[in-house]
Amino acid sequence: MSFWRMVPPLMRHQGEYVLKRLQEHGHQAYFVGGCVRDEIMGRPVHDMDIATSARPEEVLALFERTVPTGLQHGTVTVLAEQEAFEVTTFRKEADYEDHRHPTRVEFVDGLLEDLRRRDFTMNAIAADAGGNLTDPFGGRRDIEAGVLRCVGDAGERFDEDALRMMRAIRFASVFGFRPVKSLWSALKSSRSKISFIAIERIRAEFEKMLLGPDPLRGLVLLQRSDLLPYIKAPVPPAALRPLAGDNALAAMKALAAVPPEESPELRYTLLLQGIGVGGEEAAELMKLWTFPNAIARRTADLILFDELWKSRREEAGGSRQLREHWVALQLRFGKHMAALWLKRERRLLAVRFAEAPEKLQAELDLMNEREARWHEEIPIHTLKELAIRGEDVIEATGRKGGPWLGRLMDRLLFMVASRELPNAREILLEQAKVVVNEDGAS
Ligand code: ATP
Ligand code: MG
Repeated sequence: MSFWRMVPPLMRHQGEYVLKRLQEHGHQAYFVGGCVRDEIMGRPVHDMDIATSARPEEVLALFERTVPTGLQHGTVTVLAEQEAFEVTTFRKEADYEDHRHPTRVEFVDGLLEDLRRRDFTMNAIAADAGGNLTDPFGGRRDIEAGVLRCVGDAGERFDEDALRMMRAIRFASVFGFRPVKSLWSALKSSRSKISFIAIERIRAEFEKMLLGPDPLRGLVLLQRSDLLPYIKAPVPPAALRPLAGDNALAAMKALAAVPPEESPELRYTLLLQGIGVGGEEAAELMKLWTFPNAIARRTADLILFDELWKSRREEAGGSRQLREHWVALQLRFGKHMAALWLKRERRLLAVRFAEAPEKLQAELDLMNEREARWHEEIPIHTLKELAIRGEDVIEATGRKGGPWLGRLMDRLLFMVASRELPNAREILLEQAKVVVNEDGAS
């Protein structure tokens, strides 16, 4: 039986082809790193990295379709039919400067030395085409025991590249592994060196942690590690203290109940609100943490939506007024954002009332009668969808354009959105005339 059970068959065949072709030309070649680890753990494998004794120029010459992805690091991407493989020459890393991964690497002859430069024992296992493992540091044993251990001396490894501390926390959180004592104490003594690491790289690990199966565990480890104060990006003070209070904790638990592939923003909003970051500050903070603008914007909007809606809802007032507030919010933020809020609210309610199914049902029923219904009922969201244009109003009223026109169009949009008026040309023009006569076109 094949070693590979967690790899899509096509990927496996094409990867084996790349390995064989390298070997037929006298080179050593192995699958390494994440794919071997994930296979042993029984987790789906998404890509297969290959390590080889062939030099990059030899790899480039051997395959028809290649991309010189990172020649200075020895990496060539080989495109086989539908799959891409990163093929990296056996190497060690030299000249770590300022506790960062080196810009210069040295090619080496043997697999063993290549495995030795890797961060954790579970990431330092190689598999040949037949699925035979080379596992010089006991990675498989550590995986089976659920422990995270550095290759070699943890203090030295963190000193070489401080990002490994963040990776340690990410892996411990995503896999539910226990860092061995020596790793943890080295991490605590080296913690200040995280300040040398670029935020993008920290963010990439942080993101994987937050979007993994147990973000709360990751956050707790991160707090205990005491890395946060040394990261070169702002960290809200509340993030440094143990999470407290019902709301924060419920939100943190709810994190894990939201499948991240649905929408990462849901998790980000819960984390940020859990540490007291409001919609006004959220986008800026996320940008400083190098999250892509679009994600930062959507996250901040979702928090703002939540804040605005909840404060309106508190103000009470009649149901008609409440509905108008909802319509105005949905027009401002868009239908998608309102849908995201509904989804998030359902998850939060499910966590909050996990022990009280009747109460939960009552809350959900109320939402279905109100927010969820209003959300569905709104027929249009933009001026473009309105049955008349500004020019039509000018023609019908004989007035000159001006700021009044924009206000009028927004008002018409709101009336259609809240179903006071149908989206019908004649009726809208009539209404426009009425409004102009009432208000005057000032
Ligand atoms: P993922 O499943 O998230 O991709 P991965 O283990 O494949 O996890 P990568 O960042 O893709 O992580 O790195 C591939 C391999 O390169 C790792 O398995 C590890 O062997 C090695 N590696 C990556 N980053 C470092 C580092 N900072 N120090 C040492 N080795 C590293
Ligand atoms: Mg990988």
